[in-house]
Amino acid sequence: MPYNGCLHMSFSELGLAPEIVRAVAERGYDTPTPIQRQAIPAVLSGGDLLAGAQTGTGKTAGFTLPILQLLSTRPSRHPGPRAPIRALILTPTRELAAQVEDSVRAYGRHLPLRSMTVFGGVGMNPQVEQLKTRIDILVATPGRLLDHVQQRTVELGHVEILVLDEADRMLDMGFIRDIRRVLALLPKQRQNLLFSATFSDDIRKLADGLLDRPAMVEVAPRNATADRVEQQVYRVERASKRHLLAHLVRSQDWHQVLVFVRTKHGANRLAEQLSKSGLPALALHGDKSQSARTRALASFKDGSLRILVATDIAARGIDISELPHVVNFDLPNVAEDYVHRIGRTGRAGSSGAAVSLVSAEEQPLLAAIEKLIRRPLPIQVHPEFEADDAPEAAAPPARTQRAAPVPGKRVPATRARAPQGRDGGGRPAAARPEPSARADGPRRADRGDRRRRPA
Ligand code: AMP
Repeated sequence: MPYNGCLHMSFSELGLAPEIVRAVAERGYDTPTPIQRQAIPAVLSGGDLLAGAQTGTGKTAGFTLPILQLLSTRPSRHPGPRAPIRALILTPTRELAAQVEDSVRAYGRHLPLRSMTVFGGVGMNPQVEQLKTRIDILVATPGRLLDHVQQRTVELGHVEILVLDEADRMLDMGFIRDIRRVLALLPKQRQNLLFSATFSDDIRKLADGLLDRPAMVEVAPRNATADRVEQQVYRVERASKRHLLAHLVRSQDWHQVLVFVRTKHGANRLAEQLSKSGLPALALHGDKSQSARTRALASFKDGSLRILVATDIAARGIDISELPHVVNFDLPNVAEDYVHRIGRTGRAGSSGAAVSLVSAEEQPLLAAIEKLIRRPLPIQVHPEFEADDAPEAAAPPARTQRAAPVPGKRVPATRARAPQGRDGGGRPAAARPEPSARADGPRRADRGDRRRRPA
């Protein structure tokens, strides 16, 4: 991920031990990302941290690297084979838990620290057995962690560092009570790190109760500025969406497409329809068994599966770098989810395209997204799949470009730009006055990359 700025900054200058710097280099990274530059020294200082950063910014290393450093340099108060858990990382999903622990292992490979994951959807017993051994860093989803607490197979009374990763998502998923139950089991004296992409009132309330004079770091979600993500909107009738999707995949030769739908049922149905039409697709959602989810993800990652149809929650935390295409088959009900979704593309410095298929009923959702990202999205109409009932008012003609039909032939997918064109930097130029910013919206480009400690 080629991050600009502070080009001479290295991981060792952030105060990290040679074993950790070596492991980071072996993973292929030499320059810390903005969130890493800010979060690592803050965590190493031992204080609490409130961090505004979403997936894709390098946030995971932002907390795992300093935690590894702190634990390896600070002797455990309970050495021995059954020493208690010293760092607890809570994540909203199993996928994210697995990915975070993967980072812990990779970055800690030259250190004598041990880690494991605890999440639902798999048997308790292997976890129970592993928990009998020494585990320094536990990465867990809240529900399964509480199952272990209930069975007294985990001991949280000596946790030195707590991380709430993607805290906003954990609240969205209804984990607040579970989180509070876990907090009650932790020793009062500890370091707390809270990572969240957005800051709703509920997050602020949680942070107020949890954090003691936290350092605050924040970076703009890269994709809210959409520097690297080409965004397109197709106006299309609801019933034609799947045909347009199949057409785009084929005609533009898309090889790896993550398609977002709103419901599990919708995911199953679309995956089935696409597969039947000759485009192999699998659905990824919370009702699938863990092994089915792992299999689907693995084949999508290795390129043998062309299309993965996912719900927002299931897709959360999927880390596939250089994912070239994301399709919003349904627009999300919550505008912030659009930013999370398109954050799946253009990861690790590559470029990506996010295509939204928008029916007439979804126009208000599109308007909310444009307000949030503070720019109009170029709208395209494909004559063959055009929405008859699309209200002109919702999509002014000035923003619409129509692909010319080819007589007697299927029309090639349009790559037309909106008339406002591009500003030369690969960014659609704003054609409308900017809607006012929302006070509680996610981090914005203009907030930049800064750090402050409140008085
Ligand atoms: P995250 O936001 O933690 O999910 O990280 C997003 C992606 O960036 C992951 O694939 C990381 O492995 C990768 N990454 C993390 N730190 C760096 C770095 N310093 N340079 C380049 N890529 C990184």
